[in-house]
Amino acid sequence: MKTTCPYCGVGCGLVADVRDGRLVAVRGDTDHPVNRGATCRKPTRLPEAVHAPDRATTPLRRASLDERWRPASWRAAISDVAKALQRYKPDEIAFYISGQLLTEDYYAVNKLAKGFLGTNNLDSNSRLCMSSAVAGYTGALGSDGPPPSYADVEEADVLFLLGSNAASCHPIVWNRIRSRGAFLIVADPRVTPTAEHAALHLPVRPGTDLPLLNAMLHVLERDGLLDKRFLERHTRGAEDALTVAADWSPARAAEVCGVPAEDIVEAARRFGASKRSMALWSMGANQSAVGTLKNRALINLCLASGNIGRPGAGPFSLTGQPNAMGGRETGGLSTLLPGYRSVSNAEDRAWMGRFWNSPGIAPEPGLAATELVEALEDGRVKVLWIVATNPVVSQPDAGRFAAAVRRAELVICQDAYFPTETGALAHMILPAAQWPEKDGTMTNSERRVSLVQRALDPPGDALPDWDIFARVGRALGHREAFPWRTAAAVHAEYVQTTEGRLCDQSGISHTRLRREGPLQWPCPSPDHPGTERLYTSRRFATEDGRARLAPTPHTAPADPVSPDFPLTLTTGRVAQQWHTMTRTGKSPSLLSAEPHPFVEVHPDDAEGLPEKVRVRSRRGSAVLRLRVSEKVPRGVVFAPFHWGALHLEAGEGALNNVTSRAIDPVSKQPELKACAVRLEPVPVV
Ligand code: SF4
Repeated sequence: MKTTCPYCGVGCGLVADVRDGRLVAVRGDTDHPVNRGATCRKPTRLPEAVHAPDRATTPLRRASLDERWRPASWRAAISDVAKALQRYKPDEIAFYISGQLLTEDYYAVNKLAKGFLGTNNLDSNSRLCMSSAVAGYTGALGSDGPPPSYADVEEADVLFLLGSNAASCHPIVWNRIRSRGAFLIVADPRVTPTAEHAALHLPVRPGTDLPLLNAMLHVLERDGLLDKRFLERHTRGAEDALTVAADWSPARAAEVCGVPAEDIVEAARRFGASKRSMALWSMGANQSAVGTLKNRALINLCLASGNIGRPGAGPFSLTGQPNAMGGRETGGLSTLLPGYRSVSNAEDRAWMGRFWNSPGIAPEPGLAATELVEALEDGRVKVLWIVATNPVVSQPDAGRFAAAVRRAELVICQDAYFPTETGALAHMILPAAQWPEKDGTMTNSERRVSLVQRALDPPGDALPDWDIFARVGRALGHREAFPWRTAAAVHAEYVQTTEGRLCDQSGISHTRLRREGPLQWPCPSPDHPGTERLYTSRRFATEDGRARLAPTPHTAPADPVSPDFPLTLTTGRVAQQWHTMTRTGKSPSLLSAEPHPFVEVHPDDAEGLPEKVRVRSRRGSAVLRLRVSEKVPRGVVFAPFHWGALHLEAGEGALNNVTSRAIDPVSKQPELKACAVRLEPVPVV
């Protein structure tokens, strides 16, 4: 059966082969326009994860963390949840959801939380992943949504990747990047598998991207490479952005960011001289206390050189999770409502309130996922409903997050697996169907909506997430608001909220996707072919139709190095693992590629250290295998974050015990790419 990959935001089409009620193989869909039959290794090992022995199969409950779990029927579990929710004030309830959810799941939980429970405390793990891109696009272009398509990376002459190790993290897009042979500029502190293929590698020091980007803008102006006609007709704010950039000569930027001045000049000239230049980025730009400014600086470069709304051009954030985009469109962050509406906008609230026939939507933005710790610690949040994510491993300063979760009066964990590190802190487990046991849709990085199809029954009593939310809504007395019996019905309701918006999907239905294959929004009518590229008319989604450049001043990383903590840790991924290993960790062959957590250290910094080291920061520590490598510069260490307690040996600790809670003031995204650490030897026993 044709379906869509549940891992990264590339959104490849897959074929799930099912025999006798079991998934036996997964292969690439040759008809899918994203991957044309190719896949990376991760989805091919999905049968091991889908049929793993630790699938959650029945609701479980317990009164306290010390008690044994008792199984419950769905009727009893739903009734318990509904009664518990009614005991608390709306703002005492928080939802922590996931970019792994399907669009239908996202829509249903948003309607339940924001429309009928009256809490905007609904945030996604996309807060850790893409919220800086949301803020960047919205500020610069007037709306969220990446303008280009993957087809553009094959038409570009110059590709500038910043903070993106696409070769490991977005392998199929990487294949397409390499297919045409564009001039590849990669800004990354490490010699990543991506940087190894760069024509020009800019080894920027962690936390100093803004000096680099400002210096590139400086060179565009200095060397006459600004598209002045485009700037005058279609933008505002260029003067302020250029005033800040004027202070960043390549020589001055080189001193701060460590990239030779002549390489900065070459990168800027290459980018600015072509009308087919693209800026691509991912977590290295987003996961920063200045993530929004980095997004604005990358978009500045595209606007300043007129590289937007044309083939082979534009700013393009590569989404981490498979449906982070669908989550944004359905209002899956604490500031948003469906159809890219805002909870702070009275007109948007009124429209959604009428559409939902809801008792009222709260006007204040809810808590971001990165603000939950304090709210749990001081008792503002008493009920935490966690869905398809494992924040005890993935949150920054994870030890403090786990301690805060223990203070909640009720923790509901809705997941396809049990136990997980987060489920261990729950009072209720709600078993969820997962890919490929439910129908729905996902939107990938290029705004392409693809169908996910149910190819087999979920194990035991597990239910689709949207169905669990709908049952709770009905148990709360809102039968007319949650009438759906199929995912297609949820989708049909959702797309009405997008009508007339930039993300218009009112021409898309499950039936059409099944018949025609995936479609890119905006797609406003059933006969519309979808939209490959945004802003081709050069009219942007701002009120006056003009894009905005922004000044992007530099500030030093929030967690600075010191004599006690002299090294900068930057975190990331390995190619064969995904997030906190809840699925990829079930596959022996994927595990064997990288069986242990490790830290990459330059030979000069590794001198005298044994094979295991404790990475210690101002917050906590983790024990990792030492990997000596010249691929990291002196003073910088790199470690992947995947391993949690279920995959660690005694005493090792998850990497995120070390990372910093500093967040971007606009996007509230945490700074996971620059934290000060030291390495301590761990004696071999
Ligand atoms: Fe799945 Fe991403 Fe690999 Fe494509 S590149 S097969 S979407 S994990």
